[in-house]
Amino acid sequence: MNEADYLNSDKARASGLRDAWIEVDLSAIEQNVRSFKALLRTHCELMAVVKADGYGHGAAKVAFAASVSGASRFGVATALEALALRDEGIVLPIQVLSEVPEAAFSKLMDADIIFSAGSKSFLVALSAHAHAQGRIARVHVKINTGMNRIGFAPSEIIEAFELIQALPGVEVEGTFTHFATADVEGDWEAERALETFKAAVTRIRDFGFNPGIVHAANTAATVLMPEAHFDMVRVGIGIYGLHPSDDTKGKITLEPAMSVHARTTSVDPISIGEGVSYGLTWRAFQKCEIATCPLGYADGVPRLASNNLSALVRGQRVEGAGRVCMDQMMFEIPHPLQIEKGEEFVLVGKQGDQEILMDELAQAADTINYEIACDFALRLERVYV
Ligand SMILES: *Cc1c(COP(=O)(O)O)cnc(C)c1O
Repeated sequence: MNEADYLNSDKARASGLRDAWIEVDLSAIEQNVRSFKALLRTHCELMAVVKADGYGHGAAKVAFAASVSGASRFGVATALEALALRDEGIVLPIQVLSEVPEAAFSKLMDADIIFSAGSKSFLVALSAHAHAQGRIARVHVKINTGMNRIGFAPSEIIEAFELIQALPGVEVEGTFTHFATADVEGDWEAERALETFKAAVTRIRDFGFNPGIVHAANTAATVLMPEAHFDMVRVGIGIYGLHPSDDTKGKITLEPAMSVHARTTSVDPISIGEGVSYGLTWRAFQKCEIATCPLGYADGVPRLASNNLSALVRGQRVEGAGRVCMDQMMFEIPHPLQIEKGEEFVLVGKQGDQEILMDELAQAADTINYEIACDFALRLERVYV
């Protein structure tokens, strides 16, 4: 894909081979990126995080949309994701945000992908590999400031920079950390992590090293902790129009990009007392009909939300009936509402003046909107609008 293809993607339509699909509004992504850019100082870069196929929205399409409104870099989680983005025509810098296996080194260098390093063993291996090929690998050094997932301890950071200076074939392009609790406004642990990071960066400079591009903020910190912006922010969930937590709501206006749709394949009356779906965990206790939609947990509808989720049809809210199956799910159409086979249901998104947010479905499944959005990409076809 190139930029012209991206711009033409407005015209993309579903194949029509399935009566269930996702719609992704790329102009919402462009708008959300603009809203984040408006929070940043002039020279602060915005990295659009497009891991997990752009949180289920389609990484390359999202990357093009984000770059239209000012994203200048992209972050991914795996080597395969980075290579796929390059293959789709993304030419801006791409960074894999954690260490990759040695088997990926050559391919990533060929594609000019930026590495992240959080250990000496990784740096040594990358150096040996790059040097043997007469190349220089660009690295961002990861500092662990309390998430305790990956990264150098602050106490090891000078040794890490000394090691890099001594090693051929690797050069520092940036230094970064990641917050564990930035989504809680005013959280003491997040403040402490920020102070730890600032102190580490100061020491790097005091010892005469250049930390390069300094970055720390995810979506939540970009909104709630302006002091954490540094040279670049890494925005994921927010560019998709979803909030990382309730604390960012009201602080930035975001437009959800993804909506989930299905056309009902069956509408049938049910007698009072009859049950629906595996285990017959739902029973009709009033006059109603049962409408079946052809999507299920293999499409990302959380089974845990069975009997606890809604959809919109004819601009009205209807409730799920019975367990979500692998490929199908049912809704109660209460009398006197009447719908016909083939009518469109919206599981997430707007219909008429009603809206179901990804957050509502996430809450029903005791999880976060991040997971729900990713999972809808499992099998549903995406249509760009
Ligand atoms: C996923 C990720 C982000 C983006 O986080 P959001 O909460 O989606 O904004 C930023 N940085 C790193 C290292 C990540 O893994």
